[in-house]
Amino acid sequence: MGENAIEIEGLTKTYAASGSQPPKHALKGVDLEIPAGSIFGLLGPNGAGKSTLINILAGLVVKTSGKVRIWGFDQDVNPRQSRASIGVMPQELNIDPFFTPRAALEVQAGLYGVPKSRRVTDRILKAIGLEDKAEAYARNLSGGMRRRLLLGKALVHRPHVLVLDEPTAGVDIELRQMLWANIRRLNQEQGTTIILTTHYLEEAEEMCDEIAIINHGEVIARDSTSALIGRMDAKTLVIHPEEEVALPQMPAGVESCQRADGAFCFTYRRSEIATGAVVEAVRKAGIVIRDIRTEEPDLQDVFVELTSEKKGAA
Ligand code: ADP
Ligand code: MG
Repeated sequence: MGENAIEIEGLTKTYAASGSQPPKHALKGVDLEIPAGSIFGLLGPNGAGKSTLINILAGLVVKTSGKVRIWGFDQDVNPRQSRASIGVMPQELNIDPFFTPRAALEVQAGLYGVPKSRRVTDRILKAIGLEDKAEAYARNLSGGMRRRLLLGKALVHRPHVLVLDEPTAGVDIELRQMLWANIRRLNQEQGTTIILTTHYLEEAEEMCDEIAIINHGEVIARDSTSALIGRMDAKTLVIHPEEEVALPQMPAGVESCQRADGAFCFTYRRSEIATGAVVEAVRKAGIVIRDIRTEEPDLQDVFVELTSEKKGAA
């Protein structure tokens, strides 16, 4: 194994036309390398192509063209080894209601050809907190328990790479934290590479070392989380005036607004306007400043800037 858990080159996927639907170019030539041992976030709006990409990695969707290497194994040359290297927790709760968690894990292990002697069913049940429910019918499990069972199923063959497609969408906070704790532990203790898609930008910001942003089937940004945020040029200065006053005149290029508590907020490009010039304009208007602070961009800003239609590729 080299440095990368996943290497993707020129990956395309076109879903065939059906009925009145024209063909859909879901992936348009994606190049992506995902470092081994990282927690990697795949972000993008609905329909961007995230699930298509993940399902190709998982071997659930057949790519149209391009190369995919998983843990060094080319998907086309070594399909068995590449499949054995990856586990996927899908978005949908597709669990057989008549299996108990223990049976579901055993069946999954069988599907992956894990011999009985090498199965770690009890360890997985413990890790996902379903020891007590090992013999319960899945139809009697709560939504949260089912989701944990899906995570367990993705782990039966002890994959090097664990892929989670929107694992916490529509999940309550308690379960979300439990899932994240599980995932962090896998990453830290076993070195499992984690790839996840999420709509929760805060979560990606907190969890992921590196992030790729995908839109309309193309990767438009890919960097460390901190570098992505650092790349944002927009800056917001929040100034509380001593007394309630109207917004002062600002130099061109500064967007002004006034918040409900009377604070001014000025947003401008760091590369174009000096913070001093903004403060100076406030003082010149005869306004006494009680408090002043800056608001740094977060991933939400990066995401909006990169995926908004008027902006081109990063
Ligand atoms: P995401 O997971 O980012 O929301 P998807 O990969 O699910 O995006 O979908 C990407 C695009 O491909 C969307 O326009 C979607 O409608 C289309 N698509 C996904 N699956 C199929 C399919 N089986 N047949 C036709 N079009 C599909
Ligand atoms: Mg999806």
